[in-house]
Amino acid sequence: MPPVRTSIFQLLKIGPGPSSSHTIAPMKAGYYFMKLVRKLPRKKRLQADKLRIRLFGSLSATGEGHGTRRAIMSGLLGYLPDTCHPNVLEQFDDKTQEYELDLDGKALTYSPGSMIFDAIKHQYSHSNTMIFTLMAGSETLLERVYYSIGGGFLHWEGRKDPKRGEPAYPYKTMAQLKEHLRANSMRLHELILANEKAITGMNEAEIYQGLDHIVEVMERAVEHGIQTRGVLPGPIGLHRKAAIMYDQAKAEHFQGPGFVKALNAYALAASEENASGHCVVTAPTCGAAGVIPAIVFILKRHMGALQDEIREGLLAAIAIGFLCKHNASISGAEVGCQGEVGVASAMASALLAYARGYRFQVTENAAEIAMEHHLGLTCDPVGGYVQIPCIERNAMGAVKAYNAYLIASTLDESYQRVDLDKAIEAMAQTGRDMSRKYKETSLAGLAQSVTEC
Ligand code: SF4
Repeated sequence: MPPVRTSIFQLLKIGPGPSSSHTIAPMKAGYYFMKLVRKLPRKKRLQADKLRIRLFGSLSATGEGHGTRRAIMSGLLGYLPDTCHPNVLEQFDDKTQEYELDLDGKALTYSPGSMIFDAIKHQYSHSNTMIFTLMAGSETLLERVYYSIGGGFLHWEGRKDPKRGEPAYPYKTMAQLKEHLRANSMRLHELILANEKAITGMNEAEIYQGLDHIVEVMERAVEHGIQTRGVLPGPIGLHRKAAIMYDQAKAEHFQGPGFVKALNAYALAASEENASGHCVVTAPTCGAAGVIPAIVFILKRHMGALQDEIREGLLAAIAIGFLCKHNASISGAEVGCQGEVGVASAMASALLAYARGYRFQVTENAAEIAMEHHLGLTCDPVGGYVQIPCIERNAMGAVKAYNAYLIASTLDESYQRVDLDKAIEAMAQTGRDMSRKYKETSLAGLAQSVTEC
């Protein structure tokens, strides 16, 4: 297996929820297709009189509920996930509305209601397929098949991966990473930073600017979530809870149970924003987008953490996310929720320990404890919506992250008998053994026993 070569900004991406495969990648597809269209010879562009968009696989099965139609529409109109307004998708709620697409020299009318939710089972090489066709009468002027391959990544035939450098300190496991730290007398965040520079060619200032923007988006999601009340979109009719919980925490001056309520409220808030289709950070996925923001918010607002501590803690958390992605998975469809909320909780616990000034061993122990106690967690979203159990599960993941940090930081480090590599190995094996029904199919567990939606 090659060493970890994932970039920070591939793991933590900004974009509208509730599911990166259903919103972030389709939005990019709409944007890139329009860019291609504008490169066509002028004569062809002027002939164009129709745009046909077909969706396949789970984009067809659950795309409507997950906002795929709205995401593609916003991409066609020039919005990109990482720079768009947090509530951008709400502009496109009315699927009967017509929009003018800019073909450079010509406007083409398109209505999101004309998008075709095609076959769920099909012959294309990836489940989540989108086909964009620009036509003049029955003639095809331009066609591109896009694949949403998970985590917001978009692929198409002939796509060339951007050139990447080799990591300065190659590692595949925590043991190897630890060896580099020891041999080079480095700290964990320094190593992750050095690798990011080598892999992406970015300099330190650019990386920190990117990290600060990620933190800003996380905080914005929490802030908006704790101020918003009402019912979440979709047929379940689920009420938002974050604002109520936050008010209670405030009434208790964030002390004692009030502190735990605040932690819960922050995780619920960012998850509710995700469920609403507002912008979040995939940390490491949209479904688990509430855990790390809750810990960041607690650190900044209640524990006095400084910007540098947050940056360094985030880099430590990213190391944990890389290892989980590399040696197991961060996809509920592959290993169940242990790979989403479980990994988020392990990352958040490492963030907390590192930002509080603990060194490597406590940070690793904190991540391991959080991971260990999520092993076997299944993915069974009710009705296919990232709401039940996902939203409360994020709150549980944040509280477990905090508790794992407490256990790791208050006991003698040497008491810990399980290392992180072992916990990740167990997660991968458990994921392989887990019945397919419990891996984002909504065919078992709560998704089966809660049937009213
Ligand atoms: S239950 Fe499934 S969809 Fe929900 S957060 Fe967990 S992995 Fe994601």
